Amino acid sequence: MENLFIPIGGGNEIGASCYLYIVSGKRILVDSGIRFSKQEPYPDFDFLKALAPELDAIVITHAHVDHCGSIHLLSALYPETPIYTTHETAQLLSLMVEDAIKVRHIADRNSEEEWKEYRMLDEALSRVERREFFDRIEVGDVEVVLYPAGHVLGAASVGIYYGDSSLAFHSGDISLSSQRSVGRAELPSHKADFLVLESTYFYSDRRFKREEDERELLETVKKTVERGGKVLIPAFALGRAQEILLLLSEGMRRGEIPPITVYVDGLARDVSTIYENLLNRTLFNYYVQPAPVYQGLSFEEACRENLREADCILATSGMLVEGTPSFIYSKLLSRNRKSSIVFSGYMAEESFGYRLLSSRELLSVFKCQIERHHLSAHSDREELEVILDTLTPVKTAFVHGYPTGEEMKHHAFNREVVRF
Ligand SMILES: [Zn+2]
Ligand SMILES: [Zn+2]
Repeated sequence: MENLFIPIGGGNEIGASCYLYIVSGKRILVDSGIRFSKQEPYPDFDFLKALAPELDAIVITHAHVDHCGSIHLLSALYPETPIYTTHETAQLLSLMVEDAIKVRHIADRNSEEEWKEYRMLDEALSRVERREFFDRIEVGDVEVVLYPAGHVLGAASVGIYYGDSSLAFHSGDISLSSQRSVGRAELPSHKADFLVLESTYFYSDRRFKREEDERELLETVKKTVERGGKVLIPAFALGRAQEILLLLSEGMRRGEIPPITVYVDGLARDVSTIYENLLNRTLFNYYVQPAPVYQGLSFEEACRENLREADCILATSGMLVEGTPSFIYSKLLSRNRKSSIVFSGYMAEESFGYRLLSSRELLSVFKCQIERHHLSAHSDREELEVILDTLTPVKTAFVHGYPTGEEMKHHAFNREVVRF
């Protein structure tokens, strides 16, 4: 029987990840994310529905919204299909998707449309089936196994076993290096017949020198505080924020930065609390604290107060999206020459952070120091090649990236049908 793989979204892009597998006649959908763009935020659900009027299983790899932000809409389209994910991702899902809905409805707060989405999300979450890594999930004759993918807490790669022990392996966002808050990915010992590999950094020669980048980030924090400035670190709520706050605590412990007060604000604060519970480990301490919530103050006034109290603010969003805490902090700091804004990762082209870094005019309005360091939760090209060498796939399709050059022919574009 012919097996098919079709990216519904998240093929030649980062955003709206949604991948259909038809394996031994079973229809398995991996992920249902959103894009950062407001015009077309969702995967092409009409196309999906035409290809698969029914689904046999839905699997969510992890709780970043480019992989799960439209789970409630998908769930309403397939109300009978079980949704599988890990325990950790199941816990993080509601917080992450709820926030994405809130951001989308920033202009029509409390509208009927917004509340409808929350109700759909409740419905979807009530159908989530939590699984352990390495559990075998039976979908007819096909078996699905979730493997630890590193990346962020709860992140899974998906192994689909079919026929006479054939394997299709979907990496999802993956990191072969371990991080402070989560261990490294574990690959199956089985060779893969078909590999779908994320390619966030495959087309770039950038090698991650994590230790160097971390040292530089701590150095910026140290210099800024020593000259009497404040540091703003915009960070993604899930994964990056926790890595950075652990790094800052470690830097203080090792004497690489002086003892400073760090406030964690926005969604990063809530996600960090979930991390503490799930990992059974403290992330907050005497120096690193959740930003206080003030009664009777506007959000901007609260931010002003926090900037008076703390030396360093770690706040979401990571890309300075308008209206988010980090955006408001950045406005308050922008005229202070002694202060610094330290970016730590990926920037979507639609974001204010991207525009700030690429527009001289905008940059000239900001008198504070602006730095960019790369801390990544994805494998770089060298590591992706290790995955290829380990799984020795008969066929490979790259997704979740912006393909360029000769290797583009191995990339699966949105709506492209790949046979295996
Ligand atoms: Zn991710
Ligand atoms: Zn992703």
